[in-house]
Amino acid sequence: MNDCIFCKIVNKEIPAERVYEDEKVLVFLDINPINQGHLLVIPKDHYETILETPENVLQDVILRVKKMAQVVDKISDGVNIGQNNKLAAGQLVNHLHFHIIPRNENDGLVSWPGKEYESEDERLKMAEEIKKIVKEVEEENP
Ligand SMILES: [Zn+2]
Repeated sequence: MNDCIFCKIVNKEIPAERVYEDEKVLVFLDINPINQGHLLVIPKDHYETILETPENVLQDVILRVKKMAQVVDKISDGVNIGQNNKLAAGQLVNHLHFHIIPRNENDGLVSWPGKEYESEDERLKMAEEIKKIVKEVEEENP
């Protein structure tokens, strides 16, 4: 994708603080960190979201996510891993990326706010609906 900012980083058309790379995966500092040391792990090939990313590519990326979490764990008290898909979920760059965010006791960051079910019935209906869709997705993506 010619206009993709992360592809441009991969191709060194724009700079980034690269902290790890191999043939398939690149890791660099997020330019707008949630906390100091916030990393982004991306496949070098362009895929927009996790939804259409091939499983072999995801394997390479997620194994690197784990290794970079082990790295970040050495410089912090805890690690958040985040991955957003589509604008409604907060995805701002349409190139698959995992956030690795160092966390420290009393770092002032807040966890996600909750949104509770309005009733036990609503909660059970949601579980049933999701179980049905799990079957659909398994059939669509064997
Ligand atoms: Zn891209």
